[in-house]
Amino acid sequence: MSIAQNLNKIKASLPESVTLVAVSKTKPIPDLMEAYEVGQRIFGENKIQEMTEKWEAMPKDIEWHMIGHVQSNKVKFMAEYVSLIHGVDSLKLLQEINKQAEKHNRIIDCLLQIYIAEEETKFGLDEKELNELLALNEFKSLQNIRIVGLMGMATFTENQNQIKKEFTHLKSIFDNLKPLSIINCQLSIISMGMSGDYKLAIECGSTMVRIGSSIFGGRN
Ligand SMILES: *Cc1c(COP(=O)(O)O)cnc(C)c1O
Repeated sequence: MSIAQNLNKIKASLPESVTLVAVSKTKPIPDLMEAYEVGQRIFGENKIQEMTEKWEAMPKDIEWHMIGHVQSNKVKFMAEYVSLIHGVDSLKLLQEINKQAEKHNRIIDCLLQIYIAEEETKFGLDEKELNELLALNEFKSLQNIRIVGLMGMATFTENQNQIKKEFTHLKSIFDNLKPLSIINCQLSIISMGMSGDYKLAIECGSTMVRIGSSIFGGRN
């Protein structure tokens, strides 16, 4: 099947309340344009340089989401245009995003990445660290960032029960936070689910899925 066919099929299967991020990392611009031509406007990338090259070359009504781990010293390269940064997991990074956003006179939306997997290598905060971060005055004083939700990645496993447990955990952390009233937090997004597990993620409360290989084919 073509990229357009894959995309249309996936879109038709998503509830209206779920936003699709087409994960286009490593893929060439003509592949992204094929998705664009059939209406896709949100693309996810995991390298800032690659994302910036694509942003420069492609139509300006695209929303670019950074879904990879972000190094503070590279925030400046995307601060002008990035729509949503999914993987934020420290005050230091938030402070840098805030600083760069201020230079461009804008507010940058961010998701806080929560550690839900059983793997050592995944980035993110646990619930306690999340609450500690949100309670800091240094956090509350950041006026050029807005926390719009949470993001998580499940363990890379075939075990559906394990994945379900982890997604449910993220949803419960989100629900516990929801009543929070802090000026720079407006929580509405739970970003969870990829090609292999997005249906399960939606059952568990995901509002945003990040799908790459099921749209664009496998990556090397
Ligand atoms: C690559 C990537 C995805 C998409 O993965 P697929 O399995 O190709 O759908 C989703 N989220 C993150 C954070 C990624 O790095």
